[in-house]
Amino acid sequence: MTDSLWIRADHLWNDSDGRFTPGLLRIEGGVITARAEAPAAPPAGARVIDMGERYVLPGLINTHVHLEFSASPAPLDDFYAENDEERLMRAMGNAHRMLLSGVTTIRDCGSSWSMLALARRPDLAPVPLPTILCSGPPITVHAGHLHFMHGIVETDDDILRHIDRLEREGGRSVKVMASGGSMTPGSDPVETIFAQETLNLIAEEARRRALPSVSHVLSTESIRRSALARIDSLEHCAFYERDADGMIVRRYDPNIAAVVRDSGSAMMANLSTATRALDAVRARGAATPQEAHALRQFDVMVENFGKFVALGVPMVCGNDAGVRETPFEDTWMEMAWLIRGGLSAAQTIRAATSQAAKTLLIDQSVGKLEVSLAADLIALRKDPLEDREAFREVDFVMKAGAVIVDRLGPGSSTPADC
Ligand SMILES: [Zn+2]
Repeated sequence: MTDSLWIRADHLWNDSDGRFTPGLLRIEGGVITARAEAPAAPPAGARVIDMGERYVLPGLINTHVHLEFSASPAPLDDFYAENDEERLMRAMGNAHRMLLSGVTTIRDCGSSWSMLALARRPDLAPVPLPTILCSGPPITVHAGHLHFMHGIVETDDDILRHIDRLEREGGRSVKVMASGGSMTPGSDPVETIFAQETLNLIAEEARRRALPSVSHVLSTESIRRSALARIDSLEHCAFYERDADGMIVRRYDPNIAAVVRDSGSAMMANLSTATRALDAVRARGAATPQEAHALRQFDVMVENFGKFVALGVPMVCGNDAGVRETPFEDTWMEMAWLIRGGLSAAQTIRAATSQAAKTLLIDQSVGKLEVSLAADLIALRKDPLEDREAFREVDFVMKAGAVIVDRLGPGSSTPADC
């Protein structure tokens, strides 16, 4: 009797050359312990899962979600209406749904302190979960963006204490709100919040503890300061400014984009956030000046994303799942938009696998189908290099060697001879 399992596929993802080749993976103890190219065959009597012509890739990584949020039209109302225990149950359900959609690693980009229980004791969850890297409460100011998650700081000492508590309680990511946010009443998205020295301190303390840092940057100046601080990941990069009519507009600044390029920071663009609602407006035509403005600004966002791509800024996949009308099953939609915005299909796969793992400082454990990495993998019916919506239909999900989703059909699995 053997506890090893073999995966055979006509199309196994090769991260380095960005294509699929036929081959085999051996999985033992939740880890990939061998990879062989065709025509190698599993040993006689081995337990084999045959993926046939399906496309086998590493499990997806979504670098920016909010598991406690409801993804309803009013997620903040739901957040306030629920207590810690209720939010924790909601978060588990949301994380489980993401796993079923093929996402095997999640970074939560802002939650209450109590959700760190999921980071410490995922084994207590009643359903299988992806790996969850928690940021805990984002570092913010009084009345600042997501202040109600209780990450308010006043002094440098507060910041060091916050990061220390975060790590002690199981957090694996340090999030800072470097600008105001749209969803927090009273917070102004065009406002830049923290001084350069403060952002430097946060980035340095995170680096010292080998925790990835991540900065919420809507205002133009917050992008510049966070890039100069060499924060690992810059979220949104919106270049928000307010025009003469009081409307918030995206005004791309090539000089600041060059600072981002030179910083080595990755960017998370969340192009698909709330896109279904926007699609509905587009389909029926804008009824108000605000709707027309929103449609125009969406196009500017996608155009600006293309400019960052052209500069060679590393992109990571995240979609802000949980915020207004952004469901947890829709990581595939973000990937489709990354391609529409100018990223190649191979780069898009990396943005949700190897590049995401690198930015989250977990590339020694996930992100590729390689020996010594976790057996987190998915199988698709369609070729993701040809079909930008291929990730919508996931036929198979494996998390650390455990089969979570299996729609392969009869005859695909050979039990081991015992
Ligand atoms: Zn967010």
